[in-house]
Amino acid sequence: MMQGVVTITYCFKRQCPPDFVKFYEQKLKNLLYYLKSYKCPTPQRIVSMNSYPEHDYDWKEDDWQNFIQELIDMGLFNWEEVGGSVLSRLNTPQVGTSMTNERFQRNHGKGNTWSAVREWAYEQQGVCVDCGTRLELQADHIRPKQDFKEKGEDPWDADHTGNMTFRCRRCNVIRRPSHKKGGLTRQPAASALMWLLLTKRPTTYEEFDMICREYGLTMANIRFQEAWAVAHWLRNVGLYEIDPSSKY
Ligand SMILES: [Zn+2]
Repeated sequence: MMQGVVTITYCFKRQCPPDFVKFYEQKLKNLLYYLKSYKCPTPQRIVSMNSYPEHDYDWKEDDWQNFIQELIDMGLFNWEEVGGSVLSRLNTPQVGTSMTNERFQRNHGKGNTWSAVREWAYEQQGVCVDCGTRLELQADHIRPKQDFKEKGEDPWDADHTGNMTFRCRRCNVIRRPSHKKGGLTRQPAASALMWLLLTKRPTTYEEFDMICREYGLTMANIRFQEAWAVAHWLRNVGLYEIDPSSKY
């Protein structure tokens, strides 16, 4: 195989313009890296990512099942790790403690706050009021603080258990005016970045950046650059292709 790659490279160099040679030389190196990698999936596995619906909100359960199975087959993680990640999102240790601050203490009495919050939490069904998920729940106001302010009322009055409900992290974020486009994806930002990387498979950072913006992700570019590290990690073991023209 190595001999074949060298021969092809030699023929390219003799007969093609230098830019063309440089471009394909890198592709051949990537191919070699891929072929030599320990967890070498079949090429069909790598390209089959393109057959899914374009937007994640059109994905059915089967799409998600196939997608996760493909990533497991590629060796990115295993089912035990998937299980652990999901279970950690079911547990919401911050929900109760986020409701014991001085504003809740003022409204419930300092010594009674935790017992009132606990009673409230135990009465809930543990699902997001907007989308119904049980994962990544946060306590959220039914009547927003802003509404209290606008009507000339004390915004601290918003912080009592009778005005609280569960909303998941993503639904919470997309309600904010600064995230008006957040509804383009059902995924929290961190998940959406990985979903875009692994399903759209941009080959340059610039393309990744553009895809993220088109999908409505509004965070700072540095978050895209952090996420792009995953492309490099996978490229380094032959599971991703980064074009030499990529900025990063
Ligand atoms: Zn939700």
